[in-house]
Amino acid sequence: MSALDPLSEEQREIRGLVRTIASERIAPRAAEIDKSAEFPWDVVEVFRENDLFGVLYDEEYGGIGESSLLTLVTIEELSKVCATSGLIIAVQELGSLGIKVAGTDEQKQRFLPRLATGEWLAAYALTEPGSGSDSAAMRSTARLDGGEYVLNGGKRFITNAGVASVYVVFAKTDPEAGHAGISAFVVEADAPGFSVGRIEPKMGIKGSTTGEVFFDDCRIPAENRLGEEGDGFKIAMRILDRSRPGIGAQGLGLAQGATDYALEYARTRETMGRPIAEHQLIAGMLADMETKCEAARGLLYKVGRMIDEGDTGPELTKLSAMAKLYCTDVAMEVTTDAVQVLGGYGYIQEYPVERMMRDAKITQIYEGTNQIQRLVIAREMLRENRAFLLAGVG
Ligand SMILES: Cc1cc2nc3c(=O)[nH]c(=O)nc-3n(C[C@H](O)[C@H](O)[C@H](O)COP(=O)(O)OP(=O)(O)OC[C@H]3O[C@@H](n4cnc5c(N)ncnc54)[C@H](O)[C@@H]3O)c2cc1C
Repeated sequence: MSALDPLSEEQREIRGLVRTIASERIAPRAAEIDKSAEFPWDVVEVFRENDLFGVLYDEEYGGIGESSLLTLVTIEELSKVCATSGLIIAVQELGSLGIKVAGTDEQKQRFLPRLATGEWLAAYALTEPGSGSDSAAMRSTARLDGGEYVLNGGKRFITNAGVASVYVVFAKTDPEAGHAGISAFVVEADAPGFSVGRIEPKMGIKGSTTGEVFFDDCRIPAENRLGEEGDGFKIAMRILDRSRPGIGAQGLGLAQGATDYALEYARTRETMGRPIAEHQLIAGMLADMETKCEAARGLLYKVGRMIDEGDTGPELTKLSAMAKLYCTDVAMEVTTDAVQVLGGYGYIQEYPVERMMRDAKITQIYEGTNQIQRLVIAREMLRENRAFLLAGVG
């Protein structure tokens, strides 16, 4: 472990394995996944075979020992070559976190082992047609009826819709109570009254499914509620504090993958008698791209270490939003610059950077848009009781 590489020796070994899988098994599939827009079950199978889902879970639940830092590194390495594949790990974490942070021992034992092997995929269902950024405006409801909750309503833009076996769902148990009326539930895909609607065609991360899910008098056991009634909003926010860095990692992977590709291209493409990398304007772009990636990585890994050290306070909320914000803004800037470095070749599908640029855009939108991240960061800054060194001056 060093300032430059905070991973332990064992974690570096796992990163090496992920890099090999990414370059040998995933990279050759990336363009095809984008073109076919089909969910890559073969990639899930590669993850299962190599125990990659295991990095998200403790050994007692069948994982290899939960590590947020290693999870971020895994998502980053996969996203360097295929952001859809990186997202499979990020959403497995997003969909599992509700159970990890608010589940009882019994719920953890019931759900986590099959998520740890990848036998089951998970999803997180918060957004509705009328409530995205303003998630508390949701209209889905849950009513206790004997030993069961009855859910009604629908969710939109749910990643892994149709491929997940378990959905962590937020619904109002007290529709008049605002935030305090929201509760969280685990809904299994075979629950009566649960169905999957339209899967959206989209700009990027095309192999990932994004779709509607519906609850039509959907009955689930009362034991599937996470936390107490009314805890749902707090659980959703605790999940996002821990999952947003995963989207940062997806963004960073895209940015680094695009930088590496542009560098190699600029080394060999010649104009005016020399490699374009030797033209100062291109060299300057490459230097800026690399610098942004390194700065983003520093922030991201810091948050990974904070989570691993058990930090759950407002500092984590702020740093997690900052890592998501910065890494994903860098992803958009750097992938756009990579297209520019490749010139006309950057714009055509034979080269991967146009896909990376399309994939990067969503990272600024989901798990809270980057406008929302800025609001979260500013809110936490205003709450802090900082010493103001210039007090009394002037
Ligand atoms: C591909 C994809 C996958 C997704 N996966 C999931 C998933 O798995 N689970 C899930 O629950 N959701 C998911 N989402 C939903 C996603 O999180 C929301 O789309 C996102 O939070 C924004 O909500 P919205 O689309 O309703 O936009 P709106 O909330 O309507 O926002 C529209 C615009 O207004 C801005 N805005 C809104 N409020 C404010 C404010 N107070 N101040 C400043 N600006 C503001 C926003 O930043 C945005 O630019 C996914 C979306 C997509 C496209």
